[in-house]
Amino acid sequence: MERRKSRRVYVGDVPIGGGAPISIQSMLNAKTTDVEGCIAQIQRLKAAGCDLIRLAVPDEASAEAFGEIVKRTGLPLIADVHYSYKLAHLALKNGAKKLRMNPGNMTDFSEIEALSKRLIDLDVPVRVGVNGGSLAPKYAGMNEVDALTESALECADVFEKYGMHNIVIAIKHSDTLINIAANRKLAAVCDYPLHIGVTEAGTLRTGLIKSAIGIGTLLMEGIGDTIRASLSADVVEEVYAASKILRTLGLRQGVDVVACPTCARTQIDVEGLASKIEEMTAHIKKPLRVSVLGCPLNGIGEGKDSDLGIAGGKDSSVLLDGGEILKTVKNEDLLAEFEELLNKKLANL
Ligand code: SF4
Repeated sequence: MERRKSRRVYVGDVPIGGGAPISIQSMLNAKTTDVEGCIAQIQRLKAAGCDLIRLAVPDEASAEAFGEIVKRTGLPLIADVHYSYKLAHLALKNGAKKLRMNPGNMTDFSEIEALSKRLIDLDVPVRVGVNGGSLAPKYAGMNEVDALTESALECADVFEKYGMHNIVIAIKHSDTLINIAANRKLAAVCDYPLHIGVTEAGTLRTGLIKSAIGIGTLLMEGIGDTIRASLSADVVEEVYAASKILRTLGLRQGVDVVACPTCARTQIDVEGLASKIEEMTAHIKKPLRVSVLGCPLNGIGEGKDSDLGIAGGKDSSVLLDGGEILKTVKNEDLLAEFEELLNKKLANL
């Protein structure tokens, strides 16, 4: 699919826009002052395939902790600051590689000039993030799609006025259709790289669907340079969801795990096995199709179209490699045997 042309910015060494691979973002939910807790979450996010990680900086103690986390991880981290210039400067001093500001929460633009100068000097981009729930009062009564777009562009203009061009825009709304409409409108009138996602999408049951439709629809139209699937769930679920959206649309290579819905013929724990294989392969950026089916009847047939396959049996199951039956293994050894086969396959890819 043809992607919308956008300018490029860099978050440390991670490019956003200008034809760069679409990056996956997530945000920590550990308190930023809990340095150990944050580092543990960051490690899990990285292992799941997250490209960019954001931390909230709500106070000075968090800004200091942010610096410690930057030093300890060496990663390009994003500081989320709502309306305090002082905190924005502190986060930059402590190594933030991108700043997220929310114009809806800002009533005072007087210090944008100094902040822009600092961002330019440090070559750090800013994300202007406008949310449906935090539009400035002056937009009350206006069509929400227009208000979101206008608010985002107005804030970008304030930075542009001072020569700050490294801007990413995010418009987010919890209503999937408004979210899509506002991003379409914005995409048509500017070349800023766009961070897309449905905000407050909800739990796994609801949020996955809203995110897949909200993000997927825009990506199908070539809109979106970096994505976040905002979920009320363990942070790594956001990364799994975002990865799957990209893989489903052919925008990122990775392991596709095909699993059957199970029925009375099922002989193995399909859900448990498929889930473990998904976790085991989440970080792999090579194209591979794995099938986990609960019976030999369909499992062997489906395995013929997969790079690797499991076809469940009563006490023993069949492992397939490249569509051919490789061997039969005891069910208690199935996962370990599969992992060994997977590693051999990956080494030869
Ligand atoms: S693959 Fe086999 S076990 Fe799975 S749903 Fe189909 S028939 Fe049932």
